[in-house]
Amino acid sequence: MLGPVILAASRSDTMRRFISAAPGTKQVVDRFIAGETVEQVVPIVKDAAGKGLEVTLDVVGEDITTPEQAAAARDAYLELIGRLKELGLGTKAEMSVKLSMFGQSLDGGHELALANVRPVVEAAAVIGTTVTLDAEDHTTLDSMFTIHEELRKDFPQTGCVIQAYLFRTEDDARRLAAAGSRVRIVKGAYKEPASVAYQDRAEIDKAFVRVIKILMDGQGYPMIGSHDPRLIAITQELGRKAGRKLDEYEFQMLYGIRSDEQIRLAAEGHRMRVYTAYGTDWYGYFMRRLAEKPANLLFFGRSILTK
Ligand code: FAD
Repeated sequence: MLGPVILAASRSDTMRRFISAAPGTKQVVDRFIAGETVEQVVPIVKDAAGKGLEVTLDVVGEDITTPEQAAAARDAYLELIGRLKELGLGTKAEMSVKLSMFGQSLDGGHELALANVRPVVEAAAVIGTTVTLDAEDHTTLDSMFTIHEELRKDFPQTGCVIQAYLFRTEDDARRLAAAGSRVRIVKGAYKEPASVAYQDRAEIDKAFVRVIKILMDGQGYPMIGSHDPRLIAITQELGRKAGRKLDEYEFQMLYGIRSDEQIRLAAEGHRMRVYTAYGTDWYGYFMRRLAEKPANLLFFGRSILTK
């Protein structure tokens, strides 16, 4: 019940100001956000590599309102890629990007987002890594898939995300499960209407399983983004049934969530990639993490009250 309320608050400027300024917020934010700067995130990439984990790095900040902010977002990713190159960490880290941050919701946003994301994808390819386009709310997805297709003409390894809660996703999965593709399946983190998305958790889980099967039976590289123990076990089973070796798909989890399980799966021989968000504009990302687990909200409330 609380999830939709928190997701609605994630779009409110008043709540953004209140929560950002509340004493105790930082302590909870730090659990999910790896730092504010490139220099703070680099040791985390190295630490992950030492534990047999890979990462996908997300510079947070989707709520931009001007083309200048979109260009600054592009530059933040270029700075990150430059630093990974200097440190020889290119093959340990890929990038996750939200096209909204590159200007997708502004006037002429589709073209602007494509123009901003292309140099990031190019720079990633130069250092031997790649970019995955995150899935945002359903109204942005046709544009995201078109940009994905466009980028794949020159950079076929560019990945994208699909969300199990959307009715459209099984069709998208079938279309995307072709040779050379990289597709992350997640449950979905936005507040979506019943006209486009399953609302019931059991229905979402069943749809997730159907999509894992499509991806495993297809020719592409499935990336399973979930912390759900049942879905992880089902993925292993469907991977085996499809005759895939352990390095022919990967698990992905979020920084700060089920860290022991991340290490356990990597130690079993699975590829495990940790989605690691950093930056100063953490509000939207943080609120989605609160919405996913009501216990986080209790922890957050307690931390504010005890400050
Ligand atoms: P759940 O049933 O929500 O969680 C299973 C268990 O995991 C919970 O019982 C709990 O123990 C733990 N857990 C899950 N979430 C939390 C949390 N926030 N805090 C503490 N414990 C938690 N969504 C999008 O819409 N677009 C994207 O591009 C996108 N990218 C993602 C990338 C990755 C790598 C991951 C892991 C998730 C991504 N998501 C994205 C979020 C996703 O849609 C879900 O909201 C999120 O993963 C929670 O779903 P779950 O599969 O972990 O299952």
